[in-house]
Amino acid sequence: METSLTAGTELAALLGPRWVEIEAAALEHNVQQVKKILEPGTRLLAVVKADAYGAGAVEAARLFLKAGASYVGVTTLAEGWELRRHGIMEPVLLMSPLLPEEMATAIRQDLTLSIASRGEAERAGEVAREAGRPARVHLKIETGLNRTGLQPEEAVALAREMASWPEVQLEGVYTHLARAAHPGKTREQFRLFQETLQALEAAGVSPPLRHICNSTACLNYPEMHLDMVRVGTLLYGQFPPGARNRGLDLRDPWQLKARLLAVRRVPAGTPVGYGGDYVTSRPTYLGVLPLGYADGLGLTAIARPKSAGDLVRFVAKAILSYLGWHRRDLAVDLEGRRVPVVGRIGMQLSLVDLEDIPAEAGQVVTITMGRPITGARLPRLYLREGEPYLLRTATGEWITVSPGRTEAAPSL
Ligand SMILES: *Cc1c(COP(=O)(O)O)cnc(C)c1O
Repeated sequence: METSLTAGTELAALLGPRWVEIEAAALEHNVQQVKKILEPGTRLLAVVKADAYGAGAVEAARLFLKAGASYVGVTTLAEGWELRRHGIMEPVLLMSPLLPEEMATAIRQDLTLSIASRGEAERAGEVAREAGRPARVHLKIETGLNRTGLQPEEAVALAREMASWPEVQLEGVYTHLARAAHPGKTREQFRLFQETLQALEAAGVSPPLRHICNSTACLNYPEMHLDMVRVGTLLYGQFPPGARNRGLDLRDPWQLKARLLAVRRVPAGTPVGYGGDYVTSRPTYLGVLPLGYADGLGLTAIARPKSAGDLVRFVAKAILSYLGWHRRDLAVDLEGRRVPVVGRIGMQLSLVDLEDIPAEAGQVVTITMGRPITGARLPRLYLREGEPYLLRTATGEWITVSPGRTEAAPSL
């Protein structure tokens, strides 16, 4: 249930010491920018999987749809169902296979299924017949990612059969790219996909929505836009590596903020945090940051080194870290100055070395952190041109925030 409050102390109390701010106008602006480069007639499916890459799926989906996306895409049934529960009735594509037990709910919720095997198609048909509701499906074709998908020949045979199943509505056909920034590999996948589409056509099947592009492909290969593109990264204001810019002016909607819980002056030689891994080299101010690894702080994927240079950097970092070096890239921004996170990161607390800045408890800092791994339990505060209007609390309640009044509001 949505409740409401006015901006002020009550909002501050509900936010607590750390939260994510999402600027609605930036998300809408990015939809406009992406639509500008689409080929005429190409629709936009806004990808809001993984809680909209951290931005909060429900509100992101609402904003994207209102700004001109015609479809949204998620990975799991739970993600699609969440959108329906919050009144989003536009088409939602589930982009991964479902367990047999999940299919009836997906069909009842009118979520579009991705079909990646004959078994799934048959099951969808049966469930739809029992439920007395049509199953809306897209066939997912395997062209090189080798994750899920029908082999092209399999897809053609299946589609031809499905044409006589009244309870299954074949609305789309798609495939997913394995290396969108690599033109040769991508053209090969596109060629396979087009061959499949031609074979479908020859078999008398022409689903209206054919799609292959993600963000990178959307920018790099306009000839591949077809009927729809599936875009995530660009809508969240980021350019994927290897993507061309095409004059797109994207706005970053995201800011992770935290308030220092305490600040202390300590002498040189003070061991900091668990294990005393970090020892101060001079008298300094230490700030307590209300974020830890349970919130995603300090987590990075360990990528396999891809070149000899990568390998050297990788090993050097491991050795330096063993010797007590702290990562300079892990820092917070305090009034325009970058101050490093030091010592071992705790589950929900960590420390920053403020050097000579006598900051105060309660002061706000901003942090750069992987967005999809930013804890879902950090409140999401939605703003329009800087004014808060909606809050998703740490426990997932939605609260509308009325602007204007900044004096203390009555307590809950
Ligand atoms: C995540 C995803 C996308 C969007 O990828 P971006 O690179 O973020 O645009 C498109 N299609 C599928 C199937 C996805 O899983």
